[in-house]
Amino acid sequence: MKLRTFAGGVHPFDGKKFTEKKPIEKLPLPKQVSIPLQQHIGAPTVPLVEKGSEVAAGQKLAEANGYISVPVHASISGKVKGIEEIDHPVAGRGKAVIIEGDGNEKWIDSIQFDEKYFDLPVNDMRTRIKEAGLAGMGGATFPTHVKLTPPSGKAIDTAILNGVECEPYLTSDHRLMLEHPEEILNGFRIIMKILGVKRGIIGIESNKKDAISLMKKSVPKGAGIEVVSLPVKYPQGAEKQLIKATLNREVPSGGLPMDIGVVVQNVGTARAVFEAVAYQRPLTQRVVTVTGPGIKEPKNVLVPVGTAFQNVIDFCGGLTDKASKIVMGGPMMGITQPSLAVPVLKGTSGILILEDKQAHLEAEEPCINCGRCVAVCPSNLLPTTLQRLVINDRIELAERFHIMDCIECGSCSYICPANRYLVQSIRHGKQQVIQLRKKAG
Ligand code: SF4
Ligand code: SF4
Repeated sequence: MKLRTFAGGVHPFDGKKFTEKKPIEKLPLPKQVSIPLQQHIGAPTVPLVEKGSEVAAGQKLAEANGYISVPVHASISGKVKGIEEIDHPVAGRGKAVIIEGDGNEKWIDSIQFDEKYFDLPVNDMRTRIKEAGLAGMGGATFPTHVKLTPPSGKAIDTAILNGVECEPYLTSDHRLMLEHPEEILNGFRIIMKILGVKRGIIGIESNKKDAISLMKKSVPKGAGIEVVSLPVKYPQGAEKQLIKATLNREVPSGGLPMDIGVVVQNVGTARAVFEAVAYQRPLTQRVVTVTGPGIKEPKNVLVPVGTAFQNVIDFCGGLTDKASKIVMGGPMMGITQPSLAVPVLKGTSGILILEDKQAHLEAEEPCINCGRCVAVCPSNLLPTTLQRLVINDRIELAERFHIMDCIECGSCSYICPANRYLVQSIRHGKQQVIQLRKKAG
């Protein structure tokens, strides 16, 4: 049978062999964590603690500041050493609550299993999800309760669970599906209930046959959930591409999945939804794939949020002699890090360490008009034209050429024989469009 897919895309080296068979291991309690106040898209949080405060694990450290915002919680118990400016893996710099651990792993009392969690009114479910500080764990970090509250007038008919994990090297979602299928499915059923949909689809790439078969076996009868095997192609896990592949629907230019009746959530987020609704457990830890040729013992590790990359890497045997580039996430969409002092965030799916020969950008050469970037672009854009417009400061024209539809997947840069820095230019152009829109009010 021909597997369903989307137009464009590339086939980079997948690197999954480093960790796909490695069960999730729990990191020993770190002595100190630095928990950034901003870990989601939206308004930064407002601190509730101060230097000297004693905190239990799971305690709220900072309150959401508005509707598009979620609180942050302590991931270990101990004493607040201060609220300080630190290196932030996404924002460059940002404030964080520094907790010195007491080594006791003392948790707040309110985390308890609620047998009747599935009967809760949907608004109470949403409140538990917001209070638990959930933001998309696939990397997008958009507040989950907002995504689960479509505006009136947007009729949602299908929820999609994203188990694709197309980003090379990363295996944290794969391991979660193998080790916690019931919790993920319970979370997905909560998501479907909140959205009021009868149809659920779980999309998984066909290189995870064990996860496909286990998820199929684990789906409760009559739940209205179909598990779909998808071809291995990057960026199969991007929302618009996943919707096209599973439902053959297209998100309009400038639109959102909910415009065509769909909401997509990542498998890690679904598990966190279950824990938030059934246990009132806040999001204080996550599975991180620690991998690449620069790591001595690649692993999948359950890490308290706020733990320094250095601690996680030490747990994985340290760096090899050839290690030379630190990336948060995968090689296609990840963010290069200046140091190992940066903390793990709610959205940190991977720590990738590349070696010398992979670490350096080759010099750009003139475009040879081969058209390969256009052929692979999953958003049907003209990457080479967009780059030219950005370089020549023709931002308004770039906007008319739909620069904002770029999902920054990096497929164009990956395929370009002239090493054009296409995605970097386009990202820069998008930021300029946002500035122009802000100025225009
Ligand atoms: S233009 Fe954007 S969406 Fe298209 S391939 Fe390049 S990075 Fe991906
Ligand atoms: S792939 Fe590179 S060389 Fe070919 S058209 Fe695009 S920018 Fe030019």
